Amino acid sequence: MHELAVTQGILDLVLDAARREGGGRVTAIDLVVGELASIVDDSVQFYWDLIAEDTPAAGARLRFRRVPLQFECRSCRALFERKGDVFACPACGHDGVRVAAGDELRVESFDLEDDVPREP
Ligand SMILES: [Zn+2]
Repeated sequence: MHELAVTQGILDLVLDAARREGGGRVTAIDLVVGELASIVDDSVQFYWDLIAEDTPAAGARLRFRRVPLQFECRSCRALFERKGDVFACPACGHDGVRVAAGDELRVESFDLEDDVPREP
């Protein structure tokens, strides 16, 4: 599954960022996962425990924050969440919308051993 590639990407990013912060053990990572990202939390943690072994991020706890799918109206720029099967803009009725949030997967922050949260 693609969780392995995703997990590898997160690990590379966090190890890089930790090195820039002067190194140390990574103890926890906060991830933002969109509703559309189709990521299974348990799979990511599973792969993490495999591939992070022997790195400074071994055993780090992954915390997932789910964000709902959100749309932006192409006409009036209103942001809204889908209600059932209706995709039209609730503000102006326009039916041209784009996904504004909900397809992302990113590292929000991570903790080094000294417990100060870092920006990646
Ligand atoms: Zn609109």
